[in-house]
Amino acid sequence: MPVKIRTQVGIIGAGPAGLLLAYMLRRAGIDSVILEKRSRSYILGRVRAGVMEQATRDLLIELGLGDRLCRDGLLHKGFEIRFANERRRIDLSELTGGKVITVYGQQEVVKDLLAALEQENYPLHFEIDDVHLEGIDEGAPCIRGRGAEGPIEISCDFIAGCDGFYGVSRPSIPDGVLSVLSREYPFAWLSILAEAPSASHELIYAHHQRGGAIYSMRNKRLSRHNLQCDPDGAAKSWPADKIWDELEVRLNADNSERLPRGPILDRVITRMRSFVVEPMQYGSLFLAGDAAHIVPPTGAKGMNLAVADIKCLAAGFIEHYRAGRRDKLNAYSTICLARIWRVQRFSWWMTSMFHRFPDQDTFTAHMQIAELDHATGSQAAAASLAENYVGLPHSC
Ligand SMILES: Cc1cc2nc3c(=O)[nH]c(=O)nc-3n(C[C@H](O)[C@H](O)[C@H](O)COP(=O)(O)OP(=O)(O)OC[C@H]3O[C@@H](n4cnc5c(N)ncnc54)[C@H](O)[C@@H]3O)c2cc1C
Repeated sequence: MPVKIRTQVGIIGAGPAGLLLAYMLRRAGIDSVILEKRSRSYILGRVRAGVMEQATRDLLIELGLGDRLCRDGLLHKGFEIRFANERRRIDLSELTGGKVITVYGQQEVVKDLLAALEQENYPLHFEIDDVHLEGIDEGAPCIRGRGAEGPIEISCDFIAGCDGFYGVSRPSIPDGVLSVLSREYPFAWLSILAEAPSASHELIYAHHQRGGAIYSMRNKRLSRHNLQCDPDGAAKSWPADKIWDELEVRLNADNSERLPRGPILDRVITRMRSFVVEPMQYGSLFLAGDAAHIVPPTGAKGMNLAVADIKCLAAGFIEHYRAGRRDKLNAYSTICLARIWRVQRFSWWMTSMFHRFPDQDTFTAHMQIAELDHATGSQAAAASLAENYVGLPHSC
């Protein structure tokens, strides 16, 4: 016999999107249940994004999730851009009237959300296989899956598909409903997590004829760096010395600035793509986060976009259950997509500016340098870059 659960909102996926939605609904007195495919330890150990926008930080603090964020998060008032032997600093704070970014790992956000939910005995079911959705167009949605104790069945009013790019929610929508708009880039990132202090107290973005590089940190002990690489290459074809040497070349490090090296704890190659589906809703299913859109990570927007979606979605559910109205739920997709496209534009622009394209001619190379020169040399252009990098205001 399946375990049968009745709830108001069934949530698929315990990434930042699913956990934040569960937390916001719980605070508003709305019941939900999460089904997650992976184990608890797996989601806690998954190292991904690390740059938090001002609005994401403000929201988490407002929700009472700011203790560790304020204690351990690294506030950054600017970052550096290197290109063609130039080193230019973008003063984020000055250009945006005091806004900043916070370096605080996505896995720390997940840890904070999970701790807050578990403290209240929130029903979160891990290691659920074969999740599938039924009745999303009939007003009686149901999520079925299989856990260690057998089949599980969640009947609910709404389903939030927060199950990432490879989840089951988006493919459950009938063919022909969604418009899929995407772009694959002809390069990838080799990302490493290293037990080494950072040589710089701010992030460094580098454009180099050998490819882009980003030098960043997770905390005082761990650094996270990215190198543009061949999308079909293998991470193991990059021995540690080659990675550090290449980083030094692309960052144009001089002898006074040798990078501190240390054991590489993790190395992964991630393909780059831009991807959006429209609309983000079908029947009683609402998509949020990576389930609905992917940005190339150059703009550091993935987790921040997921948080922005959830703020709107939670507002919609709260309005529905408190006031019996669906205005915000009906507008969810339109409102989110307007902001998503602006963030897509910024991520695409940063990606185009910092990476070397395989078939790039000399004219394009000069255009990239001119773009970098303009973006960092004109006060107006730098202000636009900074406005987008610290993050656009939330729409809800
Ligand atoms: C390798 C990698 C590196 C990244 N690095 C960066 C970065 O440096 N900077 C940046 O800004 N962004 C980065 N991102 C993007 C950022 O991490 C995502 O945008 C963010 O995780 C989105 O959160 P989410 O909750 O929407 O999706 P996810 O974090 O993907 O969470 C989805 C959850 O759903 C679960 N799930 C999937 N399928 C099912 C199923 N069938 N049933 C039940 N549960 C399911 C998954 O296990 C997962 O826990 C990276 C992403 C990846 C994949």
